[in-house]
Parts: sequence; C-alpha cells; structure tokens
Amino acid sequence: MESLLGTGVSKGIAIGSVLVKKESSSDFQKKSITDVEHEWDRFQKAIEAGKKQLEVLVQQSRETIGEDEAQIFEAHILILEDEELANLVKTQIDNQKKNTEWAVHEAAEHFAVILEGLEDEYLKERAHDIRDVSARLIRILSGTDKHEIPIMDKPCIIVARDLLPGEMVHIDKAVVMGIITEAGAKTSHTAILAKAMGIPAIVGAEGILEKVKDHDTIVFDGELGNLFINPDSDILEQYNQKLELLKIQKKELESFRDRASITKDGADVELFGNMASVAELPGLVENGAQGIGLFRTEFLYTTQASAPSEEEQFEIYKLTAEKMQGKTVIIRTLDIGGDKEIPYLGLDKEENPFLGCRGIRLCFDKVDIWKVQLRALLRASIFGDIKIMLPMISVIEEVRKAKEIINEVKEELESSGIPFNENLEIGIMIETPAAAMIADSMASEVDFFSIGTNDLIQYTLACDRMNPKISYLYSQFNPSVLRLIKHIIDTGHEYGIKVGMCGEAAGDIRLIPLFVGMGLDEFSMNASGLLEAKKVVTQISRLEMSKVVPEVLKLKTAQEVETYLAGFSAI
Ligand code: PEP
Ligand code: MG
Repeated sequence: MESLLGTGVSKGIAIGSVLVKKESSSDFQKKSITDVEHEWDRFQKAIEAGKKQLEVLVQQSRETIGEDEAQIFEAHILILEDEELANLVKTQIDNQKKNTEWAVHEAAEHFAVILEGLEDEYLKERAHDIRDVSARLIRILSGTDKHEIPIMDKPCIIVARDLLPGEMVHIDKAVVMGIITEAGAKTSHTAILAKAMGIPAIVGAEGILEKVKDHDTIVFDGELGNLFINPDSDILEQYNQKLELLKIQKKELESFRDRASITKDGADVELFGNMASVAELPGLVENGAQGIGLFRTEFLYTTQASAPSEEEQFEIYKLTAEKMQGKTVIIRTLDIGGDKEIPYLGLDKEENPFLGCRGIRLCFDKVDIWKVQLRALLRASIFGDIKIMLPMISVIEEVRKAKEIINEVKEELESSGIPFNENLEIGIMIETPAAAMIADSMASEVDFFSIGTNDLIQYTLACDRMNPKISYLYSQFNPSVLRLIKHIIDTGHEYGIKVGMCGEAAGDIRLIPLFVGMGLDEFSMNASGLLEAKKVVTQISRLEMSKVVPEVLKLKTAQEVETYLAGFSAI
C-alpha cells in the first residue's frame, strides 16, 4: 500500500479501479519544408476544423454541464482566432522553413511560457488553455484528432497527468467515480469542471503516475486530498465505512428538503443560496434554497474574453429570477479587484489589491461597464423579486453615489419606455469594519444588509485571506469579528431592515446556532450546505441561543469560542 497527499478540490469519497489516461498523442515530427504557402494553407484549414470541433464542445457542455464550462471552449475558439498566435506561426513557417505542427507548437509554447511566468494564478492557468488548443491543432494536422479519453465502460477512477477541458466533457459521470491528476491547482479547469459535475477529485498528486497502473485499487477523500493505492483491508474498510456513512447522511438530510426552516421555538430562519453561474441553480433549487442571497456576477465577466453584453446579462438575470419563481434573488453587482481580475479591463497593477480599487470603487471607475450591468438588472427586475447588492462599501458617500447612478439608469430606461420594478430594493454588503461601525448611518440609506464575513474577517484582522502563512489569524470564530457581527445585526434591526450573511461563515454549522441567537434573518451558502444547515436550525431554539450569545462574546480567543460552540450544532 502507498499513500499520497494532493489538493482536494471536489469533495466526496471515491473507491475504485484505476484507469490511467495516457498522454494525448499530439506528438509530431519536426520536418523541413520548401512550400511555405502549402504549410500556411494547412494551418488555416486546421484552424477551421478546430473551430468546428470546439463549437460542438460548446454546445455539448452547455447542454450537459453548464454555461461556465461552455465558456471555457468559447475562450478556446478565441485563442484560435488570435492574430498574434497566427502571426507567430506564420513567422516560424516563413523564417525557419519547418512544418506547421512544429510552428504551432513553438508559437503556443512562446505564449504559454509568458503566461506561466506571471504571478496571477488565473492567468498562469491560461497557459494550460493555450497548450490544449495547440494540442488540438497538432492532432488535426497529423490526423490523430480523436479524443484520448480511454473507454470507460465500468466504474473507474481516472488518473492522469492532467485533464484538458476538452477531455473533461467526454467523461461519463455515470461510471467515473473520481479523478486524480498530477498537475493542476484549485483554480484549474479540471477542478472547476469536476466540482460542477459532482465528481470527487484531487489535483496536484505529484508522482502518482509512477506509482499506479490500470486496475490498481485507489481510495481517496476529495475534500482532504489524501489517497491510498492498493490499500490494505483496514484502510479499505475504513473508507467503505466513510462512504456508507456519507450515503446515509445524505439520505437522512434529504428528508429535510421539504421541511420548514424553523427553530424549535418557532423562529423563521431563511436559508438562501450563493451562486456564481446559472449552472448552479438546479442544485440550489434541489437543496431547497428559499432564495438567492448572493449572485457573484463577476464570474460572468471573468470567464469570457470581453465584458458580457446587456442582452446576455439580462437573459441570465431574468432566467435566475424565473427559476426562483418569485423568491428573493439578491444580485451583487460587479465585485472585481483583490484576487479577482479581468485581463481585458487593463487594470493598473496595485501594490495592495485588496486595499485598492475593488468592488464599488471599480464600478465607479468603470462606470460605463457598471451601467450596462445595472440596465440589465433593472430590466430583469420585472420577472421576479430581484434586489441589488453593492459590494465593498466603506463610506456613506459610496452608497449615495451608487444610488444616484442607479437613478440615472432608471431615468434612461423610463424615457425609453422600458419597464422595471420601481420599488427594487438596494442593499449593501457589510464587509469592511468601517461600514460595520457606521451601520446606523448605512441602515438609514439602504433596504438590507448582507454580512460578507470572508472580507470582514480579513479587514478586521488585517490578515490577507489568500496568504497561507498567516492563515492562523484568519478565523470566523475570532471575538472581534463576532462582536462586529452582533453590532451589525442589532443596528440593522434597530433601523428596521433585514440582516443576512453570505460569507462562508453563514454555512458553518458550528456558528449557525450562535448567529440564530443573534437574530440573523437570512443565511446564504453553497448548495451543498443547505440541508445540513436546515437540520441544525430545526434542532435549536432561538431564545435559548440568544442567552448563549453574551457568554460567547465574553470569551477571549477564537479557540475558546470554537470549543464553547462545539456542542450546539452536533447533528
Ligand atoms: C465576502 O466577502 O464574505 C463575500 C461573500 O464576498 P466574496 O467572497 O465574493 O469577496
Ligand atoms: Mg467580499
């Protein structure tokens, strides 16, 4: 038995027989040529054939996986259309007098290496897309353009050096129990697609290909990232039990789907869902989301090569509102900056991006782009209960200015006779200590608050949420953060507005009882956390938990809080 540790990117337990995916046969020979025109012609034909293949993939993935995934292949089409790439291929053919396969490989490597050298994790991963497109072109040129995913006719765990997005869509969810790759990071498309498909996955399992062969047995935990090759009977037994337990828990939790989310003493607690794309809607509805508490719209912008048009956005917001059938849909306007970048916006490099031009600050800076989003949102507002939420607010002037711009857009729509919901609510994220401290002034300007704990923690503790070196400081149990949360909830209620929470802490079952005790009205989380959260809510009493709140707020460390709360959510 051997064991390895990778990065768990899609949770779940997988037990199965290994199917090793061989490297794609995009091998080629470097050959000297004399007819440069002929090679150029081959290149152009390969581009056309590549586009056709990708258009089919866009269609297939839109139908079977989701919009975000379809956009990966749309981005590949854009790479094929890229003039810089074509120019470099032409220069290589003309100057070096070598075959197109070689010229394509050289040109793609040139751009991939540049991207890999960048600090930005997202752009680094794009090197992978360029290589995927290059491999496709080479396979077309050399006549080996069939996908290389092995035949999967019985349950298996796929082990690969890497899986390209083009290969992921050929994976049959019904038989693939898990995916392990040597390459990849949390933001790699393999990870994104595996999660969207609900297949447990580990990336970054270095050295696995040297250790396994077809038909070996592997067990792994897609959350923790640990895996065992040809496990002994104890480990196998242990993981079989974990798998059984997960199945039982899942089944048991399913019984909560249609139950009301009410505490033992009759308090209503709203359980909403977070989403970044419409592909997540079915999962949210299935898990009983009572509304959408956070639609992270920036992902509509980061997954494509240019800003989505008003029409595209309108369709997405309208569809979301309709699918939620009149339930609340809180749409957060563009929250770019910090760790979320958009290459085509050409933003200045900043020394401290988390303290820089992000969220609402960037919306004001790129007001034309923001207005397109606002128009789309307002137009969609007649199709359901859409509310607008502003990100990264720190001073009252931002709220006022945002409302002025929203009013301008309303006036433009009105003068063109385009309908919208005149009473559409406007709320803000409370994710800076500044906004939290003046919650009273903020509450008199807006219709609701939603606490963004992910950022509130980092700004309160002056602790970068991305920096593993100081992650010991970053805690949702920290007393300073909890006191701020209590202050925000109390102040919101004093001013008669609803207070929700959409940061990760809202789905942390260890904290849900405390927040229920503080009177939080709405919890918004990922689809996978909803049923568990409902189970916790139904097992506690708001009155009893409200008595626990002052005790918790007296504690001095995050660890003390965590220990104190441990018993309340035992489900
Ligand atoms: C938050 O900060 O808690 C939040 C929900 O926003 P994001 O994680 O998108 O910054
Ligand atoms: Mg935030």
